[in-house]
Amino acid sequence: MGCQDEAYDPQRPGGSPFEDGQERIRTGRRTLITAGAGLAFSAAAGSAAAAPTKKKPARTLHEGATVQRRRGRRAYVLVIDGCRPDELDQGLTPNLKALRDGGLAYPRAVSMPVMETIPNHVMMMTGMRPDRTGVPANSVLDLTEGTIRDMDRPSDIKVATIIDRMNVRGLRTATVLSKDYLYGIFGERAGRRWEPFPLLPLTNHAPDQATMRAVDAMLDDYDPHLMFVNLGDIDRFGHSDVTGPAGVKALRRSALIDTDRLVGTFIDTLKSTGRWEKSMVVVLADHSMDWSIPTNTITMTPRLAADPFLAGQVVIAQNGGAELVYWRGAEDQRAQAVQRIQTIATATPGVLEAPARTDPRLRLGPEAGDVVLYCQAGWRFSDPQPLLSNPIPGNHGHPATEPIPFFIGGGHRDVPRGRSSSHAASTVDVAPTVADFFGIRAGRSDYDGSTRLTTTKRASAGIRKGRR
Ligand SMILES: [Zn+2]
Repeated sequence: MGCQDEAYDPQRPGGSPFEDGQERIRTGRRTLITAGAGLAFSAAAGSAAAAPTKKKPARTLHEGATVQRRRGRRAYVLVIDGCRPDELDQGLTPNLKALRDGGLAYPRAVSMPVMETIPNHVMMMTGMRPDRTGVPANSVLDLTEGTIRDMDRPSDIKVATIIDRMNVRGLRTATVLSKDYLYGIFGERAGRRWEPFPLLPLTNHAPDQATMRAVDAMLDDYDPHLMFVNLGDIDRFGHSDVTGPAGVKALRRSALIDTDRLVGTFIDTLKSTGRWEKSMVVVLADHSMDWSIPTNTITMTPRLAADPFLAGQVVIAQNGGAELVYWRGAEDQRAQAVQRIQTIATATPGVLEAPARTDPRLRLGPEAGDVVLYCQAGWRFSDPQPLLSNPIPGNHGHPATEPIPFFIGGGHRDVPRGRSSSHAASTVDVAPTVADFFGIRAGRSDYDGSTRLTTTKRASAGIRKGRR
């Protein structure tokens, strides 16, 4: 277990996570250790003990015995960021395909709104929807600070994560996240975490090769019970290439091939080190990807500003294929404002729909503002400036980017073999699946998702019953 020299305090004041991290390195508050491959890991465990959970799950003697008995197990959650499910059937990804076809696949799996990176990673680790986690999108209007910012602070997550739940049970946890803002928001929760390096421009993520080296070193050095890994290359080569659809496809294909090869090497390592038979490997994406041409961009700022009632009273947080619109005017005019925003948005070419944030399908909290805008497939938002604010062709956040790969492989006997399920699994199911694997019980309302380790209804019902 990592040394717990600093309790995690969600209220702790600080600058951006990066400044925060830099500061901690300078002041020595983080303990840097050198792993075999010469990679630096932060060892200050975050602490679960102080995680912002109101009610601790009841831990019975029975649960304690089960968790103890299962201490030999290992779970790896690999997020292939931005991968589309159909991309695993193009002959480019033999290792991922073998893992999917040999384990338990969920062909109807979906990302949850808003289909962005940060909220879906948070859903994976909390098992809860954004109206509980407090993290509805990548970019929000910070209602306290009055500025638009990325949700990249540890205090942005308002609930306990599976990482916290494992820490308090003495299980080792690690995060190896290729993206700077993910490193930021998960903060010091895991017992060990890798700080992504080197960061590439535009996406602020480390290349998969560097990330997988860190995964290897983490295995050797720490052998975590749970390792949460984000691989950002496939997403990056969806977003940032601007040479046109043919160029996008070429780079995307090479990213798929490279990432698949790295995953294959990781599986080989699990096998050669005797870990495979103990392991569950959950592979999924946080969202998929949709491409748009420059003429298919939507800029809402001037349209909303042209309305005398809304002018100067609305703020937009752009999230690629989705936007969050915030009413900043008088409270008693909010309902009217929502209606006007919806009327203007739905009359705008390229806008698919404009549900009120309170629409029960969305389950987004107040952090998401008043109206959510989705674009149609093949379109993107660019606000406040046309094109300038969002020049990249690959986007997500809208319903076209909902389907994701989701499958559970691994050599552990509890992992079903060669099965496919008709359940619509989702990112929110990852935490309860990991909890189930380790025998960590949950209260009835601890998760919005369900374990996906079992396919039978009877088994699921048994797990639900066992929660009390
Ligand atoms: Zn992503």
